[in-house]
Amino acid sequence: MQTKYLFVTGGVTSSLGKGIFSASLGRLLAARGLDVSIQKFDPYINVDPGTMNPYEHGEVYVTNDGAETDLDLGHYERFLDQPTSQANNVTTGRVYMEVITKEREGAYLGKTVQVVPHIIDEIKHWMLKLGETGNYDVVITEIGGTVGDIEAQPYLEAIRQLRNDLGPHNTMISHLTLIPYLRAAGELKTKPTQHSVKEMLAHGLQPDSIVCRSEMPIDADVRRKISLFCNVEEEAVIEMLDAETIYEVPLLLKDEGMGEFVVDRFYPESGQDDTCRNDPELDDWIEFLKKLKNPEETIPIALVGKYVEHQDAYKSISESFILAGVPDEVQVDVKHVLSEDLAEGNVEAELGDVAGILVAPGFGDRGVQGKVLAAKYARENDVPFFGICLGLQCAIIEFARNVCGWEGAHSTEFDEETAYPVIDLMEEQKEISDKGGTMRLGQYDCEIQEGSRAHEIYADTMVQERHRHRYEVNNLLRYKLLEEGMRFTGVNPDTDLVEIMELPEKRWFLGVQFHPEYKTTVGHPHPLFRSFVRACRTYAHEKDLVETPQPPEREAVPLASADM
Ligand code: GLN
Repeated sequence: MQTKYLFVTGGVTSSLGKGIFSASLGRLLAARGLDVSIQKFDPYINVDPGTMNPYEHGEVYVTNDGAETDLDLGHYERFLDQPTSQANNVTTGRVYMEVITKEREGAYLGKTVQVVPHIIDEIKHWMLKLGETGNYDVVITEIGGTVGDIEAQPYLEAIRQLRNDLGPHNTMISHLTLIPYLRAAGELKTKPTQHSVKEMLAHGLQPDSIVCRSEMPIDADVRRKISLFCNVEEEAVIEMLDAETIYEVPLLLKDEGMGEFVVDRFYPESGQDDTCRNDPELDDWIEFLKKLKNPEETIPIALVGKYVEHQDAYKSISESFILAGVPDEVQVDVKHVLSEDLAEGNVEAELGDVAGILVAPGFGDRGVQGKVLAAKYARENDVPFFGICLGLQCAIIEFARNVCGWEGAHSTEFDEETAYPVIDLMEEQKEISDKGGTMRLGQYDCEIQEGSRAHEIYADTMVQERHRHRYEVNNLLRYKLLEEGMRFTGVNPDTDLVEIMELPEKRWFLGVQFHPEYKTTVGHPHPLFRSFVRACRTYAHEKDLVETPQPPEREAVPLASADM
């Protein structure tokens, strides 16, 4: 069957939530039995976001195949419960790199290499790539940035050409736009949307649906106006209100008839498989949402990191907390602790009233001392502790210094001269000077020791987890850590590198060299996060740290689909 391509563009302003819209629409179509994949095209020159810092770009999300990608791919995976890959995230930098590499190889010999056709053809090639696997009925393609940006132009041209190449009913454009509410006038304004649709038309693109981000419900008059001036049917004007949680958006879109609209567009004639015309199967999702919105109790957990002021820097970790709590009806109140502010003098004040401590991943030495201190506080006070990547490394540094008595023990990332390099560069990393895409990236095996806490949590002896780091636990110095009671309960079977560390004497003290947060989905919250949150809950009860569930930060949106 011909794969259908749905393009998501954005107008008026950035940060409208194209990623959440794409993920939610994907979920909605999947709930109608369609096989869906979602991809994102980012119009910047970086080949991938791996070299950008989280202030610049938010979290870097890593796929099974080791691609460093945009954090929207995390939303796609969490909503669709399905892994993505490098093919799901392409940047202008990657497109140009491919074209220039081919030019050097002589692939265009004799020709002038130009934006049209070569760059546009390369973009089209990537846009069709996932569809051509034959695995998907619908491929949703999110175009980063905003229509009207200079760098978005080649993507719009590629879409225009593809609409022509693929013929009617095989492509669709949903244009996401802002309908601002002017308080002084007491009105919703459609003019910015009209202008942004004009911009689309200037590129030869007529949107099929206009998705309206708004703080206020869009009434019939406003819908009529948008329909009239943007050349779409009224039913193609889709309201997307601010929601209490992003996980509500698939239901908001369902109530707006978005699923039906897309199916009618793509499959105008009935065929052999009409199941996608049936109501979407969202019972599990609604059940999940009910639990999410009505937690029984709230527990405070500290997230100790260097970028905690940036709300997107640890996106997958925050979402993992939310999703891990839902099955047990627990809400995690994440307390952001800036690692560089932690010192001996304030550690008790900062961490004394939390039910668990998660030390975050990171690069560079700013804040490392604070992370080491947080691990020490957790160990000495037996507070549930979860260290991820640099978090594990800091717990090991701390243990080496304060339990093994190895003064000055460190990672060679921060102190090349340390007498006790308990964390060190892998051999194969020593020769590498390029920074982009050269870490230990993607999925690797982890063999789990029977009888360990990790074994109990995973209920398995071999698992695969995703990596993003250069440094490793130094196997030459492991003996001493072992002697003092640390256990390495997960190792890579091929390289013997440490994957999981535990202190079995403690109530819950575990560090992982990999990133479990990348593998959490709505359908499958990660077992390590679930177990950690449970341990924190038990501890919270013991220490009287349970908080009453907090009201949502944003105004609740009335929801017809689910009575909650
Ligand atoms: N900086 C450390 C390393 O490269 C940890 C990386 C991380 O936390 N993702 O090994």
